[in-house]
Amino acid sequence: MTFHIVTIFPEIFDSYLNEGILKRAQDENKIEIKVYNLRDFANDKHKTVDDTPYGGGPGMVLKVEPIYKCIEHVKSKNGKGGVKVILTSAKGKKYTQKKAESLKDYSDVIVICGRYEGVDERVAKYIADEEISIGEYVLTGGELPAMVIVDSVSRLLKDVLGNKESLKSESHKKSGQKDFPVYTRPEVFESWQVPNVLLSGNHEQINNWRIQKKK
Ligand code: SAM
Repeated sequence: MTFHIVTIFPEIFDSYLNEGILKRAQDENKIEIKVYNLRDFANDKHKTVDDTPYGGGPGMVLKVEPIYKCIEHVKSKNGKGGVKVILTSAKGKKYTQKKAESLKDYSDVIVICGRYEGVDERVAKYIADEEISIGEYVLTGGELPAMVIVDSVSRLLKDVLGNKESLKSESHKKSGQKDFPVYTRPEVFESWQVPNVLLSGNHEQINNWRIQKKK
C-alpha cells in the first residue's frame, strides 16, 4: 500500500514516519510513504499555494489549483488497485478504527493536509472522496491527522506488526471493546502490586480475568 501525503510542510514527516514499526514496514516494502510539497504544484514563480478568502474574513485559504494538479499527478502514476482521496478537516466525519479497517484494502491512499483557515471548499466537493476529522478539536494543520491515518492503517496490514496476535484483542476491534490491562516486571513497585491471578500460572484463570477486564 502506498500513502501519498500532500502538505506545505513536508519535513514534519521526516521523524515520526521513519522510526519503529513504520520504518521497518517501509524498509521491508510493506508500505510506501510519499510526501508531496504542495508548493511544487503552484502555478507562479513565488510558489503561491494560499490566498485570501472570498467574502472577507481572517486568515488564508489553501488554493484549489495546486491541490488539483498534485492529486492528478499522483493518480496518473498510481492507483491500479483503487485510490482513496482523504481531506483532513476539523468538520469531517470522525475517524475510527472501523474507518482504518476500511482503508486497508486500497492500493493508494492520498491524504491532503490543510493549513491556515482551511482549504477551498471545492477540494472537499470535487476532489476528495471524504473529509476526515481525528477528533472534536482544531489543530493548526492536517499533518498530525495524516500521520494518525498512516499509522493506524499500516499496523493493520499483513505482516506489519511483529506479532499478529496483537491485533486480535485490541481496543476498538469491536465497537466498545477495550484491551485487557497489561503488566510487566517488577511484581511490586512502590507497594503497587501486579494482580495475583497473572502470577498464578493458571492459564484458564488468566484468560477469564482478561475476558472480564475487556468489558
Ligand atoms: N477553520 C477551520 C475550522 O474551524 O473548521 C479550521 C482550520 S485548521 C486551523 C487548518 C487545517 O488543519 C484544516 O484544514 C485541517 O486540514 C486540519 N485540521 C485541524 N483540525 C483537525 C481535526 N480535528 N481533524 C482533522 N484535520 C484537522
